[in-house]
Amino acid sequence: MNNVAVMYHYVREPDHWNGIVPLSPKHFEDQIDYISRTHNIISVNDIRRKHTKPWCVLTFDDGTKDQYTFAFDILKRKGISAYFTVMSGPAISQDIPLVHLVHSVLSFISDEEMWERINNKFDTRGVEGESQIYSYEKNILRRYNKYMLNFKLSETEVGMFLQDIFNTHFLSKEEFIKDFYLNAAEIKEMHNAGMEIGIHGNRHLPYNLDPQTFYREEIDTCKKWLCSIGIEPRWYTPPFGGGKNFHEMRNQLTSILISNGINGAFTTQKGFISDNQDFWMNRIDCNQIKQLI
Ligand SMILES: [Zn+2]
Repeated sequence: MNNVAVMYHYVREPDHWNGIVPLSPKHFEDQIDYISRTHNIISVNDIRRKHTKPWCVLTFDDGTKDQYTFAFDILKRKGISAYFTVMSGPAISQDIPLVHLVHSVLSFISDEEMWERINNKFDTRGVEGESQIYSYEKNILRRYNKYMLNFKLSETEVGMFLQDIFNTHFLSKEEFIKDFYLNAAEIKEMHNAGMEIGIHGNRHLPYNLDPQTFYREEIDTCKKWLCSIGIEPRWYTPPFGGGKNFHEMRNQLTSILISNGINGAFTTQKGFISDNQDFWMNRIDCNQIKQLI
């Protein structure tokens, strides 16, 4: 039996949010009980201790509000410490990362309509092969849409394209941010209740091959914001696991992260975690946990 870090995003009922694949709170709770039969669910801060039983860390990405409302509530009740990574962009510059603009817009228009809009407006050649990173999406058009929006098109192109659709469905950026993300008070409350808070980034960007700039703008901005609310982050989870430059990210960023007090980082590479103290640790998506452990 192997050590494992489970990757969670949204924990909520899907309601009308069909742009995301959430885990329902009931399934989340059942999953904790299931994992507990074979693993000790431990705080991320205890992973480098000696263990007699395989361990499991629960990791949450993106700092969305549902994680406070549902997951935190369940974790508190069960006395489990989990690891949550948050972004500073929504709080300090009213910035909604593109990935969440995509999730919210995809919740309100169909994949067919979105694909038609994208296909009419942009060059979509090569998308069939390149969108394989989203192979977990059963709907092919959803897969293409997410690939085009998250990777293929420039940030400016996507921003303008989605903003138009977003504006017709949501009141304002400020309202959306208030409802969609954890705020500083909630993050502090979670931290005070024993949850570990880590860095996900500032604007949720993939690694850009420029370690100094990426560290300063994406990582340190988030770290400083957390410090300003009294939390010193010690763990890092890069957005998209670093993106397509994840190999370079590991080579170029590791020493910078270590010299800035980061203990370790979690990827989106699927796999277990050995006992040999790797800095970068694989994860298993929560939707695959029952087949694998
Ligand atoms: Zn993320």
